[in-house]
Amino acid sequence: MIAKETIDKVFDAARVEEVIGDFVQLKKSGSNFKGLSPFTDERTPSFMVSPVKQIWKDFSSGKGGNAVAFLMEHEHFSYPEAIKYLAKKYGIEIEETEQNDEQKEKASERESMFLVSEFAREYFEETLYHTSSGKAIGLSYFKERGFKDEIIKKFHLGYCLDEWDAFTKAALDKGYQLEFLEKTGLTIIKGEQKRFDRFKGRVMFPIHSMSGRVLGFGGRILNNDKKAAKYLNSPESDIYHKSKVLYGLYQAKQAIAKLDNCYLVEGYTDVIQFHQSGITNVVASSGTALTSEQIRLINRLTRNITVLFDGDAAGLRASMRGIDLILEQGMNVKVVTFPQGEDPDSFATKNSPEELQYFLDTNAKDFIQFKASVLVDQAQGDPVKKADTIRDIVHSINKIPDNIQRTVYIQECARIMDISEEVLFNSLAQLGKKEIAEAGKAQKKSQKAFEVVRSEQQVEKVDAQQFLERKIIELLLLYGLEEGEFQDMVLKEDDKGELVMEPEVHGARVFEKIYLDLQQDEVELSNPVFRQVYVRLIEEMHTNEHFTVDGFLNQVEAEVASELSSILMDDERYALHNWDKNNIFVKEKKAGMAQLVSETILSLRCHLIDKRVDQLQGEILKIEDGSHELLEEIMNYHHLKRLLSNKLNRVL
Ligand code: ATP
Ligand code: MN
Repeated sequence: MIAKETIDKVFDAARVEEVIGDFVQLKKSGSNFKGLSPFTDERTPSFMVSPVKQIWKDFSSGKGGNAVAFLMEHEHFSYPEAIKYLAKKYGIEIEETEQNDEQKEKASERESMFLVSEFAREYFEETLYHTSSGKAIGLSYFKERGFKDEIIKKFHLGYCLDEWDAFTKAALDKGYQLEFLEKTGLTIIKGEQKRFDRFKGRVMFPIHSMSGRVLGFGGRILNNDKKAAKYLNSPESDIYHKSKVLYGLYQAKQAIAKLDNCYLVEGYTDVIQFHQSGITNVVASSGTALTSEQIRLINRLTRNITVLFDGDAAGLRASMRGIDLILEQGMNVKVVTFPQGEDPDSFATKNSPEELQYFLDTNAKDFIQFKASVLVDQAQGDPVKKADTIRDIVHSINKIPDNIQRTVYIQECARIMDISEEVLFNSLAQLGKKEIAEAGKAQKKSQKAFEVVRSEQQVEKVDAQQFLERKIIELLLLYGLEEGEFQDMVLKEDDKGELVMEPEVHGARVFEKIYLDLQQDEVELSNPVFRQVYVRLIEEMHTNEHFTVDGFLNQVEAEVASELSSILMDDERYALHNWDKNNIFVKEKKAGMAQLVSETILSLRCHLIDKRVDQLQGEILKIEDGSHELLEEIMNYHHLKRLLSNKLNRVL
């Protein structure tokens, strides 16, 4: 673990404009910098960096955060990798905290496995290029397949000699321990003394992690031994989990993010052949069915995936099942099928890069439409099969998280399959009922704050409560420590000595006002991220006299910081197109600050009361008698709502 002191030093030293300046050309613009988004292909700049706030925001992709978040997005570093990168850039020495013995052992064991794998990759590469059989057998095989030197080197392809233990011996000679050779599966041990190279006589495809470390290998046999498997892979180990790895991701990640699409193919040779044809946003699941973890890896880079199917129809139906997993994660899925007898590898070999790209562009079909048309063809004239088909397609549509999108698909499928929309909606509803039991779980998922601000489309889905809670956080961040004049209703005695509610103006700091008002109603923010941020902000503002927003941003986790930067930068979106008016806008906004704060708090309270009343009314319906108390509670709430609405009207 990197020591907290090191992390603090890094955050102190790092200037967001300098860090980003290494990757994006930035131009000064008012008090900010702007440039072209590194995440999309745009012509007018919508990427902003604020040296004052020490954050960045990309308005075309919606991403944003501090310097670390930028490195994680752009370079796809993990958090520790980003810290290490910055430490190096700013000449800060990295201190690691002590780990306990068990952690140390585990870490050093994995580290040793990485080292052995790294050695193996180099050794196999050496063998391919610098031994006579490597050149005569391995290299000439790759050349025959049409792989060029440049590509062979890019993917670090290699060759394992056709001898029993040439590699194992070389590794042991270099001081690598047998234990780790066995744990990575590179060496197979039989009995006391017998050691074999797992990949004897095979050409080697190293499998890299997203950050470029070697996790394992695939090896292809070169002779016609019918008994041996054509492809052999490293076994599962502490460093290689095949369900969590995508072949080619390391070489593809930049292109996937930049082009905002990922091609998914079957294997090593498809990936490599595509690179050679100039298509670099491509990964392979390598001989296994696609898993949710693999999809999540892609989902970090793009929402769009294009699955490439071989030309034979046999596996099609089975492969289509796996795609429901992609839909579940809210991604857009397209498919391309290759002509009979062709796979991506062979098609790329036989056609020019331009022809390949043209073929992909013109043949990509929306998955749901594709599935509907395939199923319709299969069920032609067979009513039983047709019923199956309807269930099947509705099953896929049901996986799509977005309501509107689901509806659009139902309409399209009804047209393609020539049945009424009603039938499809009904069967969707039936499926829905079955899954209501699991709805609780799903709802928790959909409340995640990061999803909330991801794209315009999703912002629309956010309910009023989320919106208001976000606003509360925004007000705290922007004006938390400022003084405002707030109007409150207080109980007073009038001339005749009766108690009445009357408005009274008093001064308070914004965070105190928000805190006291929400506490009065025992309001807790429902969104877990906002709630956590709220509690921390209020505490910091109460206790830390040197509180600053960028100091706060550095303390919170990268994802939270990104969320907060989005909130903070909402202002700048306006500024982006109205530089001259910028100052006026900010002034206006500040003048109305107290009003904005009161309005937001009141709106949130009204909203919560409405919700509570709805809930109580629902309960009343369920209870036959004895609902007297409930009714009274509802009346009380209505009364409170009226009071609040009056207040709200006054504020407005
Ligand atoms: P051929 O020259 O006979 O076409 P190939 O090397 O192209 O052989 P295919 O059988 O066509 O291999 O398979 C296509 C892709 O599927 C290959 O890129 C390979 O990476 C992948 N593949 C096949 N079997 C496995 C396996 N057992 N494990 C991992 N990947 C596999
Ligand atoms: Mn093939």
